[in-house]
Parts: sequence; C-alpha cells; structure tokens
Amino acid sequence: MSFIVAIDGPAGAGKGTVTEEVSKKLNLINIGSGSAYRAIALETINRNIKLEETEKIIKILDEIDIEFGMKNNKDIVYLNGKDVTERIRQKDVSNIVSQVSSIKEVRFKLNEIFRKCAQGKNIIMEGRDIGTYVFPNADVKIYLDATPEERAKRRYKQNKEKGIKMTYEEILENIKMRDKNDMEKEIGALKQAEDAIYIDSTEMSIEEEVKKVMEVIENEKNS
Ligand code: C5P
Repeated sequence: MSFIVAIDGPAGAGKGTVTEEVSKKLNLINIGSGSAYRAIALETINRNIKLEETEKIIKILDEIDIEFGMKNNKDIVYLNGKDVTERIRQKDVSNIVSQVSSIKEVRFKLNEIFRKCAQGKNIIMEGRDIGTYVFPNADVKIYLDATPEERAKRRYKQNKEKGIKMTYEEILENIKMRDKNDMEKEIGALKQAEDAIYIDSTEMSIEEEVKKVMEVIENEKNS
C-alpha cells in the first residue's frame, strides 16, 4: 500500500518549497518531477542539442541517470552522479525546459520512472500533471496557485538568494511563457484535477501555505 499526495500548479506557486517542508514533517518521500524535466533539459544543453532535434533528446533518456537524494537536510538532484540541484535552476535551463517537457516520449519515460519510484511507498510529488495524469488515483490532490506577478516576485527573491541572475521582468516573461506552454501541452497539460483542492496562495506566506497544505492532507487522511 502506498499513500500519495499530488501537488500541481504553475511555476512559482510555492510547490517546491511547500513540498520539501511537508515531506519532512510527514515523513513522505519527495519526488520532484520538475527537477527531472530540468535535468533532461540540462543534458540537452550539455550535449549542444537543438530543440528541433527531438530524436536526439529522446535518446538522452536511455543514456542518463537521474537520482534524488538528501544532503544537509536538503533535497538534491543528481545527473549522472553529479549534484545539479543549483545548476538546473539557471536561466538557460528554465528557458527550454517547457519545450523539452512537451516531447511525448520524454513524458512517457519519466512518468514510468515516477510510478516505479512510488511503488509501495508514501510519497509527495509536485508538478503540473501529477493529480491528473501521473497519479490519477492519488490519495490527496492539491492545486496550488497564485497570480503571475506574485509568483515572479517570489522566484526573483529565491533566485537572488541562490545567486541566479535574472531580472523581475525576465522572470515574469519566463513564467507567462511556461504557463502558456504548460497549459497547452498535448499530454500532461497543466490543469486542476476535478477532485483537487484549490489553494490560492497569492496572499499567503510560505509558512501559511505549508500549514494550509498540512491541514488539507490531514483532513483527507481522516475522511
Ligand atoms: O516545477 P518546475 O518549474 O521546476 O518545472 C519545470 C518545467 O517542467 C515546467 O515549466 C514544466 O514545463 C515541466 N513540468 C512538466 N510536468 C511536470 C513537472 C514539470 O511538464 N509534472
């Protein structure tokens, strides 16, 4: 038996931070689907592959190794054994990840990996299509949202702390571009699952978001 919490929503809604916090508090394994897509986008850059060279991008999937781990109480992503947690958040990766994740074969392969990782485990997973497509029978589904401006503001602050150089305007533009691309995807488009609980976090602090998500999980567990 496994217990699955699916958190979906657009870029910058707080999914990553909330999921990391909640996973620790409730002892759930955190699988970052966006990070997996970002790792493939990074490998596309590393190999100098153009976005039109879809076949080459698909081939990457059989040749790389993506792993999730923990270091100093922080979630870490490894690509071929190398810690790429910070690297995959850089501008060049953010600019192409949505297109890379639109490739059907990339989605099929990653979804297979995600489902295998979850077998028999208690997990929390955030992304765009976790409650609608990857785990349609998830025990708890949450759709976390906020206005594009608020999301860009948060991402700007986060980037600054991490030393990632992007202006607020660049981030807002990137967020709007990704929202559009993610919502129009042929498979795994970003949308709220019918049975998901909607949370608008525009006016919430991250602590309030965590509290709200914990409340929803507890309620669903007991229902
Ligand atoms: O969540 P994050 O911003 O790291 O995700 C990066 C990109 O990966 C998203 O913009 C989206 O295009 C893609 N993605 C996806 N499906 C998921 C998670 C992420 O298509 N489940």
